[in-house]
Amino acid sequence: MCLRCTGVDLVPAGPLVPEIEFFDCPACHRRYAGKPGQSLTFRWLHPISLVLYERLYPSKCWEFEKSGWPSKPPEVLLRMVEEIELEIAQPTQQVRDILDNPQTEEQCRQYLREFVAGARGWLREKDGDRG
Ligand SMILES: [Zn+2]
Repeated sequence: MCLRCTGVDLVPAGPLVPEIEFFDCPACHRRYAGKPGQSLTFRWLHPISLVLYERLYPSKCWEFEKSGWPSKPPEVLLRMVEEIELEIAQPTQQVRDILDNPQTEEQCRQYLREFVAGARGWLREKDGDRG
């Protein structure tokens, strides 16, 4: 079942590899991964996975401006931010399991909140620039 859509069955997706299964949602096109003994999570390349990837480096705390993320077109960044905000507001999974982050679930979610705040601030400034 899709974690976001009500009553939509997931479709198995490739590639076939040992130790992990992939699924796609035919309705919202979110992609999932499932490891044995763990609940489903979003698959790599989901916006949350990209943000938490940066958190894998222990000493690094979120610095939006320096991260290179603002290089993404504002509309792309906004879509990513909205997807992350949805997960913050309505949790569907253990986000730390996406990449097996060593941080706690709460630390990962705090990191996502910091990212969203940084990105929102940047998008607002960008908007201001335009007029
Ligand atoms: Zn779905």
